[in-house]
Amino acid sequence: MKDAPRYDQGEPRPATSSTVRARLAADRADTLARAAALSRDFDGIVAANALVAVDDEHDPEGGTTAFERAHVAALMAQAREHLEELDQALERLEQGQYGQCERCGGTIPPERLQIRPAATTCVSCARPGPRRA
Ligand SMILES: [Zn+2]
Repeated sequence: MKDAPRYDQGEPRPATSSTVRARLAADRADTLARAAALSRDFDGIVAANALVAVDDEHDPEGGTTAFERAHVAALMAQAREHLEELDQALERLEQGQYGQCERCGGTIPPERLQIRPAATTCVSCARPGPRRA
């Protein structure tokens, strides 16, 4: 068991720390389930493709299957990436840096964190285009 850092009452802490943790954990569980489902899809496509491919190398459906497989693979990569973001967010939460913009050090608005719990930048830093002062 890890020693959790203790914070004095006087130290400024986000009041919703446990809410954030629950939100991140829920998102993590969702993402894990999605990754598992995608993995099953992927195996299914590969298996189906193997059955067809034996018969006809120039199967007209071959291209579609390859596309489908690439699409599922991309979604799997996305899910894995999101899991990493969530792990990093949990780490920042432990270190008391959660909700702080990685770029400008400003506070990320709670509304943004509600939509994207793993966000590492504030809205203006995340927005492409000329940087706002
Ligand atoms: Zn920022």
